[in-house]
Amino acid sequence: MVKIDKEKCIGCGLCASVCPDGFEMKDGKAEVKKAEACSKDAAEACPVEAINL
Ligand code: SF4
Repeated sequence: MVKIDKEKCIGCGLCASVCPDGFEMKDGKAEVKKAEACSKDAAEACPVEAINL
């Protein structure tokens, strides 16, 4: 299950760019849409390691 630590998220939008099927931006923070193969890539791309798989 993919989770975002909203305290850590700085709203950079990278996860939604890297993995648009897995993440979307809402009110300046990332939200999980669903687990996708690219969720892992987004987690690795996140500059503040806010995405937990
Ligand atoms: S990549 Fe990380 S910091 Fe950037 S919007 Fe996604 S969860 Fe937030």
